[in-house]
Amino acid sequence: MSQAAAVSEQRQWDRLMAMARIGAIPGDGVNRACLTELDRRARRLLIGWANEIGASATVDAAANLWLRREGTDPRAAAVVTGSHMDTQPNGGRFDGIYGVIAGLEALTALHDAGTTLRRPIDVVAWTNEEGGRFAPGCMGSMAWSGCRRVEEFADVVDPDNVRFADALDAHLAAEADLPRRTLGSQPHAYVEAHIEQGPRLEALGRDIGIVTGIQGSRWFTVTLTGETAHAGTTPLALRRDAVQDMVRAIAALNALMHDPNDVLRFTVGRIVVEPNTSNSVANRASFTIDLRHPDKDVLLARGDAVAGVVQAAVRDAGVMVQETFHALPVAFSPLVIDAVERAAAEHRYGHLRLASGAFHDAQFVVPVCPTGMIFVPCRKGISHNPAEYAEPSQLAAGTRVLAHVLAELGNG
Ligand SMILES: [Zn+2]
Repeated sequence: MSQAAAVSEQRQWDRLMAMARIGAIPGDGVNRACLTELDRRARRLLIGWANEIGASATVDAAANLWLRREGTDPRAAAVVTGSHMDTQPNGGRFDGIYGVIAGLEALTALHDAGTTLRRPIDVVAWTNEEGGRFAPGCMGSMAWSGCRRVEEFADVVDPDNVRFADALDAHLAAEADLPRRTLGSQPHAYVEAHIEQGPRLEALGRDIGIVTGIQGSRWFTVTLTGETAHAGTTPLALRRDAVQDMVRAIAALNALMHDPNDVLRFTVGRIVVEPNTSNSVANRASFTIDLRHPDKDVLLARGDAVAGVVQAAVRDAGVMVQETFHALPVAFSPLVIDAVERAAAEHRYGHLRLASGAFHDAQFVVPVCPTGMIFVPCRKGISHNPAEYAEPSQLAAGTRVLAHVLAELGNG
């Protein structure tokens, strides 16, 4: 029996549903923030399943969790797969956790098929990919890759004012029984399975997305400071109205971000107004910008223009522009892209090469080793929502491709 034939659709689905119960919210959703008691319960469940097939668990200084199946050559660099176990506050049952469970299912299939590989295979669960509790996301993979130091995140606070460093310390104390592994390594390759989070595979009737790269993202927070005043008594000419200036700023940004080809993604998704009462002029308005583009030059040029455009657009308010996240576009490695394509073709799955619109931990692994991703369809492209859904058979198809790729790279 081949490792791909040993992939169990039912076992994988049952495990995904068991994970979905940890942090379940109404409407089939999941709210499982990183470094919480729920996160630790999910990780213990995962470790238990890994131990059943003789895989060992270790944790690094950024609380990334690693499950290893040894190879025959103790000096060979590992092939790494995995994703994240945290969710958005109003998240679904597949984003992130699928890549971790698929990695474990592939390991289990290798075990059940009796396949020995030269290289060890590691399944990693990266810490805080979503950034839902502590911003920015991808802290675990950034710290592992050396793109950022874990200490740089120490003073980031969650909505309850808990510092990241304190949450991390408490978490590592709770997992003190797990052997500690050094932060950072030099794998042979990294391949991450994930739901597409977009509509293309489903619309085209394909089972497997062969991901060629990830577009770049830049996030900003713009804060406009005016002066509060009585809505009934203060003449408009005497106001410093932060909301009116925010409207001017967003209109100017829409002009800056205009793209006739509709490739650029520009989103103002969060607005906070103070005092936020209907009969007071706002003294403060802040809004977020999420800018994405696959072309590095466009991403840099438009992002660098944000502060100047906002400054020029506002009339009365003071302006502060902070960049909170910056990830350049990345291209994945032909080593992994081609292996995924070969595996999909061999199993006769309809497949498609595509770039990822969402960012992933894989983005930060690119500078370290040959990297790629496998996408599976999700219904209507819905993600970061309780309605997120993927077909058990298509999730299993992605895992068969993953198992095939791991077996090939594991002997490479
Ligand atoms: Zn994800």
